[in-house]
Amino acid sequence: MTAEGHLLFSVASLVLAHQLEITPEIAQGDWLHMLPGVLLASLLPDIDHPSSTLGRLFRFISIPIARLCGHRGFTHSLLALLVGVTLFQTEIPSNWPIPTDFVHAMVIGYISHLIADMLTPAGIPLLWPLRIRFCIPILRGKERKKAERFIAVLVVVIAIILPQHINFSFARYFDSLQFNKIQFDKLPIDKLQNLYK
Ligand SMILES: [Zn+2]
Repeated sequence: MTAEGHLLFSVASLVLAHQLEITPEIAQGDWLHMLPGVLLASLLPDIDHPSSTLGRLFRFISIPIARLCGHRGFTHSLLALLVGVTLFQTEIPSNWPIPTDFVHAMVIGYISHLIADMLTPAGIPLLWPLRIRFCIPILRGKERKKAERFIAVLVVVIAIILPQHINFSFARYFDSLQFNKIQFDKLPIDKLQNLYK
């Protein structure tokens, strides 16, 4: 997929994720944080190609990755996504001024890139280092660019017309999971400590 296609598809995916309230941060996030995050991450997996948009800017990163893993290798796998998410959660010092909605939008952007590449005949090695490639090759032929734009618009239209009553709220789901934790937090800890003295 072209860089333009990835950028369009990532914004469309963010609008959809926002409507679906994938996380509270995405649902209530600041678009001035989320848009740069999603756009940046939508180009990030192609850092494994020295002539891609980011690859040209950061050749000192793209050339070694291309030599080690090849294009559409590690950076196009679930493992890369997992490493990214884990790094974001563990390596960022708490005093860094990186907003959480920016980070969550980056994850959306990265996933949107993987899905978009999966729509091309070459597919992606989701289970890298296993070589099995996953693809639903609907973007092919000369009309590919038009199809990329059409899909991006389609995703935005789906997001906009998505009726609120079928809007499955991940946020509310996670809130219900945390119900017991909140109750536990409210327990009179002082009294409990006295009990065990
Ligand atoms: Zn790619």
